[in-house]
Amino acid sequence: MPHELPKAYEPGAIEARWAEYWVREKLFHVETPPPGDTRPVFTLLLPPPNVTGRLHMGHMLNQTQMDILVRWHRMRGFLTLWLPGTDHAGIATQMMVERQLRSEGKSRLEMGREKFVERVWEWKQLYGGAILEQMKRLGASVDWGREYFTMDENLSRAVREVFVRLYEAGLIYRGKYIVNWCPDCGTAISDLEVKHEEVAGKLYEIRYPVIGTDEFITVATTRPETMLGDTAVAVNAADERYTHLHGKKVLLPLMKREIPIILDEIAKPEFGTGAVKITPAHDPNDFEAGKRHNLPQIEVMDEQARMSANAGPYAGLDRFVARERVVADLVAQGFLVGAKDYTIALGKCDRSGTIVEPRLSEQWFVKIAPLAKKAIEAVESGEIRITPDNYRQIYLNWMNNIHDWTISRQLWWGHRIPVWHCGDCKAVIVAREAPAKCTRCGSTKLEQDTDVLDTWFSSGLLPFTTLGWPEKTRDQEVFYPTTLLITAYEILFFWVARMIMFGCHFMEGHKQDLTVKKASGWAEKKNDSVPFREVYIHALVRDADRQKMSKTKGNVIDPLEIIDRFGTDATRFTLAAMAAPGTDIAFNESRTDGYRAFANKIWNAARFMFMNVDRIAPELRPSTSPSTRLEAFQTHPLEDRWIFSLFNRVAKEVNEALNDYRFHEAANRIYDFFWGSFCDWYLELIKPRLGEGANPETARQACASLINLFDGALRLLHPVMPFITEEIWHAMYAGTPPLKSIALAAYPQADDMQIDIAAEVDMAILQDLIVSVRNIRAELKVEPRAKVPLEVFTSESPVQKLIDDNRGVIERLANLENVQFVPSSLTRLSGARSTARFDVHVVYEKKLDVVAERERLSKELEKMEKEIANGQRQLGNEQFLAKAPANVVEGIRRRAEELKVLREKTLSKVKELT
Ligand SMILES: [Zn+2]
Ligand SMILES: [Zn+2]
Repeated sequence: MPHELPKAYEPGAIEARWAEYWVREKLFHVETPPPGDTRPVFTLLLPPPNVTGRLHMGHMLNQTQMDILVRWHRMRGFLTLWLPGTDHAGIATQMMVERQLRSEGKSRLEMGREKFVERVWEWKQLYGGAILEQMKRLGASVDWGREYFTMDENLSRAVREVFVRLYEAGLIYRGKYIVNWCPDCGTAISDLEVKHEEVAGKLYEIRYPVIGTDEFITVATTRPETMLGDTAVAVNAADERYTHLHGKKVLLPLMKREIPIILDEIAKPEFGTGAVKITPAHDPNDFEAGKRHNLPQIEVMDEQARMSANAGPYAGLDRFVARERVVADLVAQGFLVGAKDYTIALGKCDRSGTIVEPRLSEQWFVKIAPLAKKAIEAVESGEIRITPDNYRQIYLNWMNNIHDWTISRQLWWGHRIPVWHCGDCKAVIVAREAPAKCTRCGSTKLEQDTDVLDTWFSSGLLPFTTLGWPEKTRDQEVFYPTTLLITAYEILFFWVARMIMFGCHFMEGHKQDLTVKKASGWAEKKNDSVPFREVYIHALVRDADRQKMSKTKGNVIDPLEIIDRFGTDATRFTLAAMAAPGTDIAFNESRTDGYRAFANKIWNAARFMFMNVDRIAPELRPSTSPSTRLEAFQTHPLEDRWIFSLFNRVAKEVNEALNDYRFHEAANRIYDFFWGSFCDWYLELIKPRLGEGANPETARQACASLINLFDGALRLLHPVMPFITEEIWHAMYAGTPPLKSIALAAYPQADDMQIDIAAEVDMAILQDLIVSVRNIRAELKVEPRAKVPLEVFTSESPVQKLIDDNRGVIERLANLENVQFVPSSLTRLSGARSTARFDVHVVYEKKLDVVAERERLSKELEKMEKEIANGQRQLGNEQFLAKAPANVVEGIRRRAEELKVLREKTLSKVKELT
């Protein structure tokens, strides 16, 4: 069977075929391993995209990084589980379906809850899988056999279990509370869902008459309509301006209600008049003050932010209309002292953009302090590592100032709160399953709480609920704690912090197989309750001008469109190559175009290889050993020893880079090796051994080296470019590979025995010589096809021997007709170049441009001086010398010597020119 590869590289067709193959063959499915399986474990949870979602660049980056690490671990023999799923996304999904209904002239309310929820499920069946289908195009090597949806029956059961357990532990309570209320969404939203915006507003000063005196107390507010709900005025006990008014009352203007003057710390003497109006039902701080003083809570607005019956003459008005009326009436009645321009930090709903109204409402809460305590400890103690490190402090600051979590949402789509209210005795029954009758009075008039849980409540449980919790399962034993979480900064608190709190609470005492732990390198860790050992926060993808992408700016880059044009492999490679930790990515499609060219280069190299192998040794297949070795390497020519040495060096660096999430370094090292060293040099160097008339044994050996090296390079590249590597890898085995996929082959591990310093040094000299000649040719504008003679001077006999032994290669690659050694230095001649090891002179008649040549040399000198100074600094640095490996120090010393020689040569050349 010959090795076949289509002539042209067409990523679209290749990628669609392999994406489908990986899923169909269930290649990434992981069965629960039996006890005694001691493979190291790598578990990763995919941050579940919203079921309404469409793949954006953030996902693409996130999933590319995860997939690189997952494939890398799998190829290194880890038991690797990457768990995919989608989130039901309460508000987002409900709003999507409501919009659809509106376009059909229907509404959620007339439909009723049950029918509406059915309709959302229908929508989910039809459209909910879109984002996962898009993920398949990325090649994400997730375990599709374990795909979940946060509203699956088993996950919903776990959610109810968690709710009941927290309730029974006193960690869930119901209470009136000031929440951020979105009148448009008709629900409470968490602090995190409120976006603050600075806008120009007014600060109104209103005076309240003090009963029994002819005095007034002046208070200030940006929301004058809330005065209708005032139930006190506070002053500070230490504020002498008001001492004589202690114990008195004021008459609330417009409402004619008598309210007390109270003494409270909320009033700050240094701020304004020092007096504060107290509206417990419409302001969080006033709410707390009201509680301290047992003040009534008068709600003057309803759910739609219209004034309620409690607002007297203003009832039924929209809040902003009411504001105008209240101000006008205050003016008319002489109570408005003034209105100043004032900058307001206006809270808006993140989803609808509506101005949020602080509102009193009955909600369910999680008492957060006990949960937060453990979650803080887990990060402080290093049981969970957060990378980059600056996010650790952000997390800790936030966790130390956390408030109780409002978990109820006034929605229909989501996990309905497992609480039943008795219509007769008003008992509140918290239960795992719907009770048949009231546990207190036996009534069957039970109604389930109408609220659902915050979406993040269920996603916060995923690290263990996806592994079978509340049952104790072998999956938990093996895969929990998960190894790593890769996510975006924007959900650090929404999601990551909640997972840590829930994990530490519910998985405490959970045991992990020690052998598994040891092998995965976490043996020193003690706390098995944490949901993951490490959190890696990835950067943002911005546009090419470093602008944040936004729909309003119209600069959103659609990853699928980029994939259509350049292929998934090139898109993945772009994101990896640009992903330096802690730096945002300025996505530039010209880079992607460049990486498509890289893929094309690899493709053509493969075709070149197959053409030769099929002619010389068609039955040849790569050796399947995990390390890429050159057997009996002394018998191989220089180029083989050099490329295998380099390959092992690069493999080492790539493994180290991936270990530290330095994706960009890994990608760039592979790129330089594959294109720079392998395609540009090795394939050229090896040609004579493959050519017509070559010795059959030599040709065979060359083919074997070539195919083994190529196989190693493909495996090295596979995690970043999974598709093209899969395609060529199968072709290398002429369609009958030893494994179903390159994804299951071993990742190249560096073999130190293959490092051949001598070969690398020799090859560097030859490359230096060839590049020098090419540069001179370009400068002298020598006709590209013209073969010219070359003169070489070197004072080192090994260098002379090296050049002599490789004169064929040099002549071919530098297009020379004859390489001749001369007995003295060539620095004075035009068309000459010097290095520390040799001088070369291209013999070509041309007048020397003295000025240009002098300029070029002085530039070179400048560069040399800099490098010399650098070296001296390093060699004079005791600390550096103590830490740096001996071979590095030796290298710097050698280079310093070389530079001295070179400087002398160049200086004498400059002298000649003057
Ligand atoms: Zn809203
Ligand atoms: Zn009852």
